[in-house]
Amino acid sequence: MSTFQAPKGTYDLIPPRSAKFLAVREAISAPLKNSGYGYIETPGFENVELFARGVGESTDIVSKEMYAFETKGGTKLALRPEGTASVLRAALEANLHKAGNLPVKLWYSGSYYRYERPQAGRYRHFSQVGAEAIGAEDPALDAELIILADQAYRTLGLREFRILLNSLGDKECRPVYRDALQEFLRELDLDEDTRRRIEINPLRVLDDKRADVQKQLVGAPMLRDYLCDACKAYHEEVRELLTAAGVAFEDDEKLVRGLDYYTRTTFEFVHDGLGSQSAVGGGGRYDGLSEMIGGPELPSVGWALGVDRTVLALEAEGIELELPASTSVFAVPLGEEARRVLFGVVTELRREGIATDFAFGGRGLKGAMKSANRSGARYAIVAGERDLAEGVVQIKNMESGEQSAVALGLVVEELRRRLAS
Ligand code: AMP
Repeated sequence: MSTFQAPKGTYDLIPPRSAKFLAVREAISAPLKNSGYGYIETPGFENVELFARGVGESTDIVSKEMYAFETKGGTKLALRPEGTASVLRAALEANLHKAGNLPVKLWYSGSYYRYERPQAGRYRHFSQVGAEAIGAEDPALDAELIILADQAYRTLGLREFRILLNSLGDKECRPVYRDALQEFLRELDLDEDTRRRIEINPLRVLDDKRADVQKQLVGAPMLRDYLCDACKAYHEEVRELLTAAGVAFEDDEKLVRGLDYYTRTTFEFVHDGLGSQSAVGGGGRYDGLSEMIGGPELPSVGWALGVDRTVLALEAEGIELELPASTSVFAVPLGEEARRVLFGVVTELRREGIATDFAFGGRGLKGAMKSANRSGARYAIVAGERDLAEGVVQIKNMESGEQSAVALGLVVEELRRRLAS
């Protein structure tokens, strides 16, 4: 193993590609900031108990994929595998739900950790931007979140994504369905692991990707037929609000998602250019989660969009984001005196908000001009002893190659004028 190798299942974000990650985070968070969501940041690790209770002991995320460890002080912690449980924990701790302003709307952005088998689009460290609306049961809130995610993806220029939508029922109707499903599944010819899953989390069996399992699932009782009237009406309202907003979705009655806490509305954003790891984001309503982690009843809804997979989706669609040029002006000094003078000009340009870089390291004209070219700057400013003696600096248009002398005192103003046109 090379010393310079990132741990398995991880990778570094490196320029210029890293700029896309920043742009994606910005594009996903912009509609949230514009819709009453406040920024929240929680620790990268939590007491392991929070995820065990919140995400669910029976889920792969908790039982197989969690980075759990014991501190030197004997506390059992886990690197966060997802954001919702932590955000709800933080909101309860800060009593945000008692401030009398429900729902509490929060957004976050950060790193998450799952010990998964790495493959394209699936990593052990990945990054999400998420949103949670805590403490209100209102189909418009579910619709709002889906619409905002759709808006984020559309502003990025993504087209080949689909929204899958389902309702998982509530504490009235889901148990009845669960019993019926278990009864059906127990009669099938399944391996030990899957049989165990029938007893712990039977809905997950519906999600099994294996063809021989899927074949046996034909004729399985469907949740749709068991939804109570309240859940049906709620779901219908969400669907109508999405339709009215012009947001297309597909009803997917097999969509169950990998976390135990979901109730009613669940959805996933899938992208058709990503192969097997096609889910770019997902979420849903989690009306029971607060109580599961020891809080009061707080019906809530949220989503998390994967930044890594969103970048892959952009690349799959061949979308080039219009990123602001990282450097507009590049300064090339020829000689000691010029170095001091131009460095001063660079500082002034930067204070004016003009993206500027400098040829460091005292290289010759040729090497420095190469750096100017690579930087993508529109203008280079070049000065040697003779220029300084005349009180001027050369401004070179990097595209046309044209060069003209400008009085030192007017360089900043002149560049601002030229860059604005
Ligand atoms: P989940 O909580 O599993 O629904 O994850 C929400 C989103 O996070 C997914 O749709 C992915 O975009 C992203 N995500 C989850 N797990 C991974 C992973 N191991 N590697 C990369 N992205 C992931």
